[in-house]
Amino acid sequence: IFADAIFHYAVEQSAIAISITDQHANILYVNPAFCAITGYAAHEVVGHKQSLLSYKSTPKVVYQELWGALKKGRSWTGRLLNRRRDGSPYVAELTVTPLKTPEHEDEDINYLGMHWDATEEH
Ligand code: FAD
Repeated sequence: IFADAIFHYAVEQSAIAISITDQHANILYVNPAFCAITGYAAHEVVGHKQSLLSYKSTPKVVYQELWGALKKGRSWTGRLLNRRRDGSPYVAELTVTPLKTPEHEDEDINYLGMHWDATEEH
């Protein structure tokens, strides 16, 4: 039997940074790879906005594209300049996806973020 626990282990042990947010991009969950890549402990980011990772140099139009896709119920993939806890920049290849959960109304949507450090390739 493919137990639910396997899904939990998969997320916890994924080498890709995973975060789950509410509809305002407030972080509800981050996995250990997120902590390893960003340098933040989970308790330091849960309850904070996902924008705390922004290096504040990515053109606004990129975020507008990201949110435009999410608001249409679509995934978006792109590259952003992120900032680690120690202030150092890295190129994040990010995919964000609106999570459609049957329990939730449209206005109470969650978002899934998955990113990895693409600095070496940039
Ligand atoms: P914002 O105040 O967020 O505004 C930028 C533009 O985005 C606005 O002009 C507006 O058009 C649009 N916008 C912002 N919030 C909303 C909203 N709730 N509804 C509709 N439109 C909106 N950003 C990163 O820099 N790095 C990341 O790794 C990253 N990961 C993310 C993961 C997830 C799951 C989600 C949902 C978002 C992620 N973001 C990430 C985007 C982040 O939420 C911010 O939008 C971004 O960091 C820009 O922040 P800001 O404060 O500069 O601008």
